[in-house]
Amino acid sequence: MILFKKTSDLSDYLALQRAAELKIGFVPTMGALHKGHLALVNHSKKNTNITIASIFVNPTQFNDPQDFAKYPVTLESDLLQLEQAGCDLVFLPAVNEIYPEGLTISKTYDLGYLETILEGKYRPGHFQGVCQVVDKLLDIVAPTLLFLGQKDYQQCMVIRKLIELKGISTTLSIVPTIRETSGLALSSRNLRLSEKGKEAAVGIYQSLIYLKQNRQKYPAKQLIEEVEKKLLLAGFTKTDYVAIANANTLDPVMEWDGDTPLVALIAAFMDGVRLIDNMQLT
Ligand code: AMP
Repeated sequence: MILFKKTSDLSDYLALQRAAELKIGFVPTMGALHKGHLALVNHSKKNTNITIASIFVNPTQFNDPQDFAKYPVTLESDLLQLEQAGCDLVFLPAVNEIYPEGLTISKTYDLGYLETILEGKYRPGHFQGVCQVVDKLLDIVAPTLLFLGQKDYQQCMVIRKLIELKGISTTLSIVPTIRETSGLALSSRNLRLSEKGKEAAVGIYQSLIYLKQNRQKYPAKQLIEEVEKKLLLAGFTKTDYVAIANANTLDPVMEWDGDTPLVALIAAFMDGVRLIDNMQLT
């Protein structure tokens, strides 16, 4: 596994791979790696000739400075896991390598409706920050395939839009969410949960299953209210949202026509940690 810290070194290396017509697979991450990230690496290995992962905790996507300050960093273990997974290249840039012009956001992305709902609504500026970094990483890596996790459902839609805005030929590949045996979605943020909190956090997964099983029995409004109550009872301190939406557009679906593909999405706080998860209901 080759480690790159400088953009120019990586670009030069990848230009040679591209000239040899090798398919490049890219897995962007913020580190604190777990089996969810490694699933993305495995998908890339199966579908491309060369797999590159990046580790960069992107300051511009944190709307809450505390969240950024507390974001877990486990670099040694990350590199070991990537090497064991057979990742070929790792890009580990410093902040000034990605933002040589400083952290003030200069460019904005027209994300439309997507930025006004769910994560966009509760984390203002978050998706602009995500686009800032992914825009730059896509310029540097110019991957044939980009691997993202379904765990961040709305983020996948945002990056699909970014690829469209950039007019590049990179293909987006979305990898299903990897879960603990309990059902809890793996997340770097789980490292910040207490043991009790981690047990209780499975309430999000159970709520998603409940929504899936009952989507035809009760109106969406009632289901959502019930789940909000259940989450508070399970020990969550706050829910940002419980939503049932059109899986293609994220428009809320209050009355299901029996045909529209549905996704349920939840964001809730446990032990002061904000957790998100989602599940396709149809
Ligand atoms: P992050 O390091 O949290 O920015 O995540 C990097 C990538 O890994 C994103 O595309 C995430 O959607 C994906 N990812 C995070 N958790 C999981 C999971 N449990 N299963 C599958 N992919 C995941």
